[in-house]
Amino acid sequence: MTSVAVSVPSLASRVRSVGGSAVREILAVTSRPEVVNFAGGLPAPELFDREGVAEAFRYVLEEMPGRALQYSTTEGEPGLRELLAARTVERGLATRAEDLLVTTGSQQGLSLVAAALVEPGDTVLVEDPCYLAALQVFGLAGARVVAVPGDADGPDVEALAELVVRERPKLFYTVPTFQNPSGRTMPAERRAAVAEVAGRCGVWIVEDDPYGELRFDGERVPWIATYEGAADRTVLLGSFSKVMAPGLRLGWLRAPAEVLRACVVAKQAADLHTPTVNQLAAARYLADRDLDSHVARVAGVYRERRDAMLAGLAEALPEGARWNRPEGGMFLWARLPSGYDTAALLPEVVRHDVAYVPGAPFHAGAVDRATLRLCFVTETPERIGEGLRRMGAGLRR
Ligand code: PMP
Repeated sequence: MTSVAVSVPSLASRVRSVGGSAVREILAVTSRPEVVNFAGGLPAPELFDREGVAEAFRYVLEEMPGRALQYSTTEGEPGLRELLAARTVERGLATRAEDLLVTTGSQQGLSLVAAALVEPGDTVLVEDPCYLAALQVFGLAGARVVAVPGDADGPDVEALAELVVRERPKLFYTVPTFQNPSGRTMPAERRAAVAEVAGRCGVWIVEDDPYGELRFDGERVPWIATYEGAADRTVLLGSFSKVMAPGLRLGWLRAPAEVLRACVVAKQAADLHTPTVNQLAAARYLADRDLDSHVARVAGVYRERRDAMLAGLAEALPEGARWNRPEGGMFLWARLPSGYDTAALLPEVVRHDVAYVPGAPFHAGAVDRATLRLCFVTETPERIGEGLRRMGAGLRR
């Protein structure tokens, strides 16, 4: 019998249209130790509280192994949800444990919200620039992504209101504090105005806040969810990645009951639940240690690194370049003079053993090729200075 080769059915169109990133390969070299890494959004590993985390895991594995290694509920470990609710209340937002769902990183929170709210063809509004992996999530959900123009303080609220009325989007996705990629923070008045638009025009707000605790200067700004009109239409996402460790893959979301229930169903389908042992260890850590003083220590080190980067940028970037001075978080955003293309320049810069992320892929609207994202927390001040000298040499070639 002769066999006839029949081609296999094609991949789903949603993965074909999303695709990988063009600069991924170039950035793969950042794992070489000689490369000064301003590209990846990696928390400084030497600042992880290894002892505290190890002690928490030891405790749960010794004291409650049967529970820690067992399946758990989709919603999350009750003790952890209680502690997270208390921390949310301390920060000004009335929250009960049952308003929260523990997620496998806040990245999963984004996927669950998309599963709960977005149908193929629905419109989603995002900031310009926008967190890349959020664009991926909305792309996979089949959304039509529309960028809201903005300035150094965040999205333009009039433009937002106009787009909400005209495009009838399901949701507006925002990272209001120390945004990835731009490092910018939305001031209080603008948050109130975003909340007002959501209340008046009818749209869900997805408020993603993995960086808010990492503040070095200035005063904490309340979550959008705390403003008049926003609490019942905001999904707030939190994460331990930047304050404890990203390898734990622990995040949470706070949502109105109907959305929360839909997210629970989506999570059941995705992974049943977030690893029990990690949840119990995090709960033990919160009960036994002082996470806030650990975060204050980390923020102090990150501030020095931000300052080291600010001190060297004028030398490194071409005349006419502009950049911001974030009050916290991990990223700084720069724009070279018009005509520069940061993606085209990257291979030469990488040959000088330093890497950044070109800004173009972060722009869901009109693409600006002159922008770039710099992560200032991964390297020591000395290496930051050296990296900026190399970057200057690479850009001048
Ligand atoms: N949201 C934003 C804005 C981020 O920058 C990141 C991490 N890069 C995430 C969500 C996902 O973080 P995690 O899943 O580790 O909580």
